[in-house]
Amino acid sequence: MSFSLAIVGRPNVGKSTLFNRLVGKKLALVDDQPGVTRDLREGDAKLADLRFTAIDTAGLEDATDDSLEGRMRRLTERAVDMADICLFMIDARAGVTPTDMIFAEILRKRATHVILAANKGEGKAADSGVIEAYSLGLGEPIRLSAEHGEGLNDLYAQLMPIADEFAKRAEALNDDVETDVDLAEHEADAELDPDALLPSQLITEKKPLQIAVVGRPNAGKSTLINKIIGEDRLLTGPEAGITRDAISLRTNWGETPMRIFDTAGMRKKAKVQDKLEKLSVGDGLRAVKFAEVVVVLLDAAIPFEQQDLRIADLAEREGRAVIVAVNKWDIEDEKQEKLRDLKEAFNRLLPQLRGAPLITVSAKTGRGLERLRDAILRAYDTWNRRVPTAQLNRWLVEMLQQHPPPAPQGKRIKLRYMTQAKTRPPGFVVMCSHPDKIPESYSRYLINGLRETFDMPGTPIRLTMRGQG
Ligand code: GDP
Ligand code: GDP
Repeated sequence: MSFSLAIVGRPNVGKSTLFNRLVGKKLALVDDQPGVTRDLREGDAKLADLRFTAIDTAGLEDATDDSLEGRMRRLTERAVDMADICLFMIDARAGVTPTDMIFAEILRKRATHVILAANKGEGKAADSGVIEAYSLGLGEPIRLSAEHGEGLNDLYAQLMPIADEFAKRAEALNDDVETDVDLAEHEADAELDPDALLPSQLITEKKPLQIAVVGRPNAGKSTLINKIIGEDRLLTGPEAGITRDAISLRTNWGETPMRIFDTAGMRKKAKVQDKLEKLSVGDGLRAVKFAEVVVVLLDAAIPFEQQDLRIADLAEREGRAVIVAVNKWDIEDEKQEKLRDLKEAFNRLLPQLRGAPLITVSAKTGRGLERLRDAILRAYDTWNRRVPTAQLNRWLVEMLQQHPPPAPQGKRIKLRYMTQAKTRPPGFVVMCSHPDKIPESYSRYLINGLRETFDMPGTPIRLTMRGQG
């Protein structure tokens, strides 16, 4: 069971680069012989646990027999008709060009599922192109860097529901459904590509919430995950060398399907003790990239160590929803006092996570786990929240009245209007004059205001000031 994805767009936006990434470099030729007209290329593609057929429409540059536009049009139309889903790619650095608009028109008329990707999205140079992409009227663009492998999680998130639809349709037709879980193959991939970490498995109806439990060795990660999945699959204990055979685990926690990324199990595979530190940093990074919600698990006896702070900061910078859980609460005597100290340390050491929940738990006894689950669900909701534009702009007017922006050299900066450009995490764009003159403190004022008014504690909030012109 699978679907097909056509990558379309004008020449040079990066279609082949993405195709190669999805299909695997071994299979796809990057440089075809000059002069040979390439046509549609197909390949077996893989993105995390999704398997599908990718169709590349690159090679238009080689057209000599026909006008570029005519050929492009026909090739695109053919790909659109062949494919279940179209990924329409633009170059975020170049912004939206007239040729892009021609493509958008074709796609709007012809394609059932269109995913818009603004490629070459790494770095600031792409910021305005990503925003411009909204003007194509094809929904929220994915910010992608095919070359650097960034944004593939977002691509996955957009493909997943469509893939589900096809899976359901296929089931109805009694099609063959892939059930193999080939862990050996999957673990080999994990070494190479952080985005290919999910085990290959049956595409399920409801996308599980992806969480990662990260923290220092012996914080209690395995004990916690064991408790959540309710069976002794992970084996806990301080000794290294315990092997396990899964990197992420599917479970229903309460009613909620979740996929838990298990860094502890991976760490315990390291047989050599002195590899631990090195491994755990890499693990943490991979876990954060995988997760929608990151649970930073601290040991109540030694909270907020350097390594904890690093991983929490990393999670925030990667835009994940973060929850801090303090474990081994069962052995704390002075609970009230300890909690006060923890909260104080949290605010001081992790100001970037302002408002994020701090939950005390005992992985061993199971106390506090329900509160932890509720906090995860709430954080996930907030992370996905979309504030209507009208509400935002009413709010902006009030904020400006209460505390007008500064007036450098007597010229007041005008903040004209704003919109929420993305979710997961929430990202807002404010259109204004002189975006570069707005001080950090004013942006913080707006971010904190957004948090309070629209009830978005804990989630990273991105705010971009954008000039018009
Ligand atoms: P196609 O004609 O649309 O298939 O584009 P290619 O995949 O051949 O890419 C065109 C050029 O853009 C190549 O030089 C790529 O290396 C470059 N490129 C592709 N993706 C990215 C990206 O994400 N960032 C940057 N900076 N360059 C990219
Ligand atoms: P990991 O390295 O983070 O996976 O930590 P483990 O789950 O292996 O736990 C390390 C040690 O802490 C083990 O001896 C556990 O029994 C112990 N431990 C874990 N959670 C708790 C807890 O909530 N309370 C107490 N008292 N001990 C715990």
